[in-house]
Amino acid sequence: MVPVIQLVDFRKSYITGEVEVQAVRGVTLTINPGEFVAIMGSSGSGKSTLMNTIGCLDRPTGGKYLLDGIDVGSLNRDELADLRNQKIGFVFQGFNLLARTTALENVELPMLYRRGGQRFNNARERAMKSLERVGLGKRTDHTPSQLSGGQQQRVAIARALVNEPTLLLADEPTGNLDSRTSIEIMDIFQELNAAGMTLVMVTHELDIASYSTRMVVMRDGKVVTDRPVEQRLNAKEELARLTQEQAAVKLA
Ligand code: ADP
Ligand code: MG
Repeated sequence: MVPVIQLVDFRKSYITGEVEVQAVRGVTLTINPGEFVAIMGSSGSGKSTLMNTIGCLDRPTGGKYLLDGIDVGSLNRDELADLRNQKIGFVFQGFNLLARTTALENVELPMLYRRGGQRFNNARERAMKSLERVGLGKRTDHTPSQLSGGQQQRVAIARALVNEPTLLLADEPTGNLDSRTSIEIMDIFQELNAAGMTLVMVTHELDIASYSTRMVVMRDGKVVTDRPVEQRLNAKEELARLTQEQAAVKLA
């Protein structure tokens, strides 16, 4: 089995003025197909830097990164962009949707960046399917301002899935959402994971991390804990429990 992610002594430093910030200081990490990994750690511990490198938005300044067996350090900028487009879907805390653009058009967007022979001829249909997959088949002509936060994040997930990536990356995907909506997003992630998708998610909430299969904790640019999630939460069960509790409150 080829790991999806193989980081070997990965390092990243930023130079601002005359100061060098070592954001990640030697991380060795292997993530296999079908894992759902939560990355935790306090603010400034290097989580986003790690995610940006895993997502091929940035290159390591030291060490090695293999994505699906491909040595990312050996690629030029165009090759890196192509690899990112083919293999990776991104979901962010702030949704990052185009404001005056419908859900459907937002989801079509990543397909427009595919070059030459990789272009799809059924982009609209694929975008529709992707929205249906996240339960938004009836909201395709809404713009972001006409959607709730949870619905906007679903659009962002549909957009991330439309190129059929190998890997879904999410940086604080529930950071702007209330707790029930957060669990609904975890429900989508668990469904995707059950269907074989590999996921890596940054979160600072322990209960959100408990929906994953493996927890990696960073501190000062290093991994300090890496262990399987023992009492994994099931999003569908938690949602059912919340619904019951709300019904009980109404009766009381
Ligand atoms: P986290 O996501 O865990 O909060 P980050 O990866 O964003 O951590 O940041 C890790 C460290 O790197 C912090 O000290 C931060 O200030 C620094 N850093 C992050 N991005 C940059 C950048 N583009 N330029 C300079 N320093 C940066
Ligand atoms: Mg961050």
